Amino acid sequence: MSYVDEVYSMVVEKNPAQPEFHQAVKEVLESLRVVIEANEEAYRKDALLERIVTPERQLLFRVPWVDDNGQVHVNNAFRVQFNSAIGPYKGGLRLHPSVNLGIIKFLGFEQIFKNSLTGLPIGGGKGGSDFDPKGKSDREVMAFCQSFMTELNKYIGADTDVPAGDIGTGAREIGYMFGQYKRIRGVYEGVLTGKGLSYGGSLARTEATGYGLLYLTEEMLKCNGKDIKDKTVVISGSGNVAIYACQKAQQLGAKVVTVSDSTGWVYDPEGIDVALLKEVKEVKRARLTEYAAARKSAEYHEGKGVWTVKCDIALPCATQNELLLEDAKALVANGCFAVAEGANMPTTMDATEYLQQNGVLFCPGKAANAGGVATSALEMSQNSERLSWSFEEVDSKLKNIMVNIFHNLDDAAKKYGMEGNYVAGANIAGFLKVAEAMTAQGIV
Ligand code: NDP
Repeated sequence: MSYVDEVYSMVVEKNPAQPEFHQAVKEVLESLRVVIEANEEAYRKDALLERIVTPERQLLFRVPWVDDNGQVHVNNAFRVQFNSAIGPYKGGLRLHPSVNLGIIKFLGFEQIFKNSLTGLPIGGGKGGSDFDPKGKSDREVMAFCQSFMTELNKYIGADTDVPAGDIGTGAREIGYMFGQYKRIRGVYEGVLTGKGLSYGGSLARTEATGYGLLYLTEEMLKCNGKDIKDKTVVISGSGNVAIYACQKAQQLGAKVVTVSDSTGWVYDPEGIDVALLKEVKEVKRARLTEYAAARKSAEYHEGKGVWTVKCDIALPCATQNELLLEDAKALVANGCFAVAEGANMPTTMDATEYLQQNGVLFCPGKAANAGGVATSALEMSQNSERLSWSFEEVDSKLKNIMVNIFHNLDDAAKKYGMEGNYVAGANIAGFLKVAEAMTAQGIV
């Protein structure tokens, strides 16, 4: 059996009932096959792959908190510190009822390569809890966040592990967590990113993942002789990534005609009204039915359906495994020529292969959505030097980073004989830097 297959089998055997983690490892290892086989003896001797697929540390803890009626609840919480070869662990905190160890491990594993691709000194980690902030009062969310940080604070710090937001963890949650960290540890440091602007946050962090997705998409199209202007775009999700992807796509002259949430989706042939979407999602924290009710041109549909709409470009920005083979077929049949992932692993492997085989330009999330973590690293830099940069300065650094990421993965794909395969290019470029740092640091 080849080294890649051996390690994949070991991952499945040692990590039972973690399908998303298996899926992420398989996707990465498959596209690294050519690189691994070229260095198999050295990597095997150092157990490099076994080490890279095994987290350096996994923390599991309970979070007790009291609701507004005096009832005590207990949630499961996780922080997986996956790989610190190139910098302190960095990755978001997901608060969603679906969260379990396997999901956090898949996200943490992907984060290693994503962070490497940014070119910035950040290692990979991820965390979260099965707590659902939806429908909770601010006081309940604060009670959860304080209890969560009462335990987590022992394991994180500005130079060791710097968490950030993710699904369910926005500015409110980061604020409560930061306050509790400062209170317990007595230090004012950049231990979290995605902070509010009044206490160490970075301008453009809120916009960064969505904007970065569009900067990279624009570059990918340009390098393939296409232009984003006047193209029709479908987007899934209506959270942080989706909203700012929508905004930047429109600024670049494209028309975004869909958004979705976990209950339904909106088709708006006149183009999504971003100001209204922000009002519904960021201010009122309401459902998309409110968007449709306030806008004449919009149709609301229950369930899933974004990928059935005719488009040129599709940007999945909600969650993992939301774009399946049948969706990929519908996109191809409708003439879609580019897919870039705003979410983490939104496209299943068979759907990805179908898109690639049918000539669709496909950029994986670990490259396309890296603008969020890259700007988080810029927030860390500003915190360390106790300065704040202007919006324009951060935004222009973000744009440079995204353009560089695209060229790095494009070059890596070409170098290894897989021109145009940006999945392979991203995995190879991300892996090589981490592997070199791990080798240089000895067996740790
Ligand atoms: P938000 O919580 O702000 O928004 C998530 C959106 O996706 C919401 O519209 C939500 O709908 C929808 N959604 C969540 N779970 C499901 C589900 N199971 N089925 C259908 N829809 C769902 O999260 P973000 O926008 O921050 O994150 C979106 C994706 O982008 C995630 O994969 C995240 O890991 C990734 N990402 C985020 C970064 C960031 O900076 N925020 C950085 C890099 C990646 P509803 O409100 O109904 O739940």
